[in-house]
Amino acid sequence: MSESADRPSRSFATLQVQAGFSAATAPAAAVPPIYQSNAFEFTSLAHARDLFAHRVDGDVYSRTANPTVAVFEQRIAALEDGVAAVGLASGQAAVALTLLALCGRGGHIVAATQLYGGTIDLLEDTLPDWGIATTFVDQDDIAGWRAAVREETRVFFAETVANPLAQVLDVTAVAGAAHAAGVPLVVDNTIATPYLQRPKEFGADVSVHSATKFIGGHGTVLGGAIVDLGTFDFTADPQRWPALTEPSRRVPGTSLADRFADSSPLIALIKAKYLHDLGPSLPASSAFALLQGLETLDLRMQRHSASARQVAEHLATHPAVATVHHPALPGNAWHRAARTYLPRGAASVFSIDLHSTGDPRADFDRVETFISALQVLRLLANIGDARSIVTHPASMTHSHLSAPQLAAAGITDTTVRLSIGLEDPADIIADLDRALALVCQS
Ligand SMILES: *Cc1c(COP(=O)(O)O)cnc(C)c1O
Repeated sequence: MSESADRPSRSFATLQVQAGFSAATAPAAAVPPIYQSNAFEFTSLAHARDLFAHRVDGDVYSRTANPTVAVFEQRIAALEDGVAAVGLASGQAAVALTLLALCGRGGHIVAATQLYGGTIDLLEDTLPDWGIATTFVDQDDIAGWRAAVREETRVFFAETVANPLAQVLDVTAVAGAAHAAGVPLVVDNTIATPYLQRPKEFGADVSVHSATKFIGGHGTVLGGAIVDLGTFDFTADPQRWPALTEPSRRVPGTSLADRFADSSPLIALIKAKYLHDLGPSLPASSAFALLQGLETLDLRMQRHSASARQVAEHLATHPAVATVHHPALPGNAWHRAARTYLPRGAASVFSIDLHSTGDPRADFDRVETFISALQVLRLLANIGDARSIVTHPASMTHSHLSAPQLAAAGITDTTVRLSIGLEDPADIIADLDRALALVCQS
């Protein structure tokens, strides 16, 4: 949060433990309690009326406002130096509600081709049902981003670190192209987390997260967050953003831009309309688990990144491995970008390609042999867990994609994704070596 006399600037490690919570607001509980209550009592009927009209701030009903969730929202906003945030049931809800709120009816999205599989399904299969179209461009093709803009374009969308190949987004260049088109850049910062990158420093306007991954960090709860970084002025071209700038039924007699000028009209729109009407709320008990995860985010990310780098460097020398897609390696196409955008360490989700036999059947058998032999790395559809995870994108996370989409995403039949966890890196490397030795013999 911004520096002021009564709120001095604090460092990341302090914010991740303390931001958004004061023991004075809850009877001296040192840790934010779980407010396991659907509704909150009004002091009077007049108070209830004011709350329902958004004339005053406060908790009404936990679908859109809960005190435990509010601590999570303020803490994640503080860590990204944003103005406001909303916690949601999942990362998928965070991406969907952000795009719905910005596009309204008939809006157009320009998005990177290198996206999480669930986001591609959303953009290609669900949003078009509602009249929202997407043009996909290679995230490194800055001229392509500019050329894809139409009159109805309302948002640029990309991931700061994509998966499974760990491409690092040139946030400054894509933000420049978005702003030239008069629209905000929304980034999915799930894999980098606010610890490895603060997207606001490079010009992004909104950041979304699957908190399910590194923020929770222990594979126990789903959650999502949207952070308004406060950099995009929706009132500069008010006709483009009628839901924010015109009188709104959500705030009788005024517009969201006027009522929430001091905080975030966008987050207010997402809460008062989309979360209220569609309902993907973050449970208080999940917000509690995510807050516990956040308290150790820096320590865990340092360990995840350092171990992943060690594993990547080791695999780069292994005869069974054709390619290691990790931006810490000097030959990687995103090595320079990683030095700029991920100065505290590259992410711990990356992929390797096993050598191909040229025959798809034999390649699948090879991948099967390798994955079946792993004991420390677990076969499951998640990333950012304390446990190390292996997945086969072509069979699992990216199995809905067509062959050209897989090729565009750089995914082959022998691409295997790794999410390096918090175990001893020597055990992880020994496990991979043992399984790769079987592939060498096959
Ligand atoms: C997992 C993930 C999502 C979706 O998040 P859920 O919490 O599973 O709904 C979105 N973006 C990225 C980059 C992800 O890894």
